[in-house]
Amino acid sequence: MTTPLIDSFGRVHSNLRVSVTDRCNIRCFYCMPDENVRFKPRAEILTFEEIEKLVRVAARRGVTKLRITGGEPLVRAELPTLVGRLAAITGIEDIAMTTNGILLADQAEALCQAGLQRLNISLDGLRDETFERIARRPGLAEVLAGIRVAQQLPFEKIRLNAVAIAGISEEEIVPLGAFAREEDLELRFIEFMPLDAEGNWKPEQVLKGETIRTMLEDAFGPLQPAERSDPCQPAVDFRFADGIGRIGFINPVSQPFCADCNRLRVTAEGQLRNCLFSHEEWDVRELLRQGASDEQISQMLTRCVLAKKTGHGIDSPDFQQPARAMFQIGG
Ligand code: SAM
Ligand code: SF4
Repeated sequence: MTTPLIDSFGRVHSNLRVSVTDRCNIRCFYCMPDENVRFKPRAEILTFEEIEKLVRVAARRGVTKLRITGGEPLVRAELPTLVGRLAAITGIEDIAMTTNGILLADQAEALCQAGLQRLNISLDGLRDETFERIARRPGLAEVLAGIRVAQQLPFEKIRLNAVAIAGISEEEIVPLGAFAREEDLELRFIEFMPLDAEGNWKPEQVLKGETIRTMLEDAFGPLQPAERSDPCQPAVDFRFADGIGRIGFINPVSQPFCADCNRLRVTAEGQLRNCLFSHEEWDVRELLRQGASDEQISQMLTRCVLAKKTGHGIDSPDFQQPARAMFQIGG
């Protein structure tokens, strides 16, 4: 490995989130507009070769973990081919994917065989009504079918992710907890962040992790802190005292974890970002398409990391939501 990607606050960046598309088959209100979405033209989206080259350079700088995301990654054709190519890169130890699960039943096996190790499947509720209120499209049955298929395959881990929104999610918390316990799936609740496309986020819509924890403890008994498998993970994990189930909380709004952040991102059209909330991007696609050397790409990674701020500042009075919404960044 050459020099690691260390920012000006000493944070070592070993985790790259790769968005493979900005397209999606549903329209979650916390992420995308409902209608008339302006997706990037195909020609602007990084090819598999371009992604592979970037990851190879990043791996030489100490990136060991990848997460494939989007948009909905499973709408990108031939994804197992990309996974296989990334898994073969020296230094890459862990490949995960975040998906809404709608297309998972058909693709899970090929992805697992190609080398995908971990899956995060988004599941905000177990009632069709909640699903459609959030996603503004149907699809819950397909997601549940995708979970069932994935459970039969040798993934190292399958986790459920639920975004919690005040006024919508309350009645889903306990059923989701019960489902995760019954199915022996880890469940993480994520606070709603100001990354919606329509700019409607309000602090009052954040259903805090602490509130959810109380709801779960009232239903299932005490939650006890669980060991942290990765010191840089954003989630704080707990186990139920009865030994059944593991629950995590990602509380970016009420308990920012920026001090431990080790993540870099590349958008589907090849813009490097050092934070979800960044207002600055580095155009690695231009370098890749100009035939730049590995060294030039590596230098761009350095510039991106060195410009990283201490934190997202959501709680600051001068916080400004980024121009891009979640689907355009890659969650
Ligand atoms: N389409 C895939 C999915 O939904 O799982 C992957 C991309 S999505 C942008 C990645 C994750 O970000 C999902 O778990 C989604 O629920 C979450 N997410 C999207 N918008 C969010 C927001 N405004 N606040 C918190 N989490 C959000
Ligand atoms: Fe699509 Fe995922 Fe965004 Fe929902 S959160 S609209 S599934 S990209």
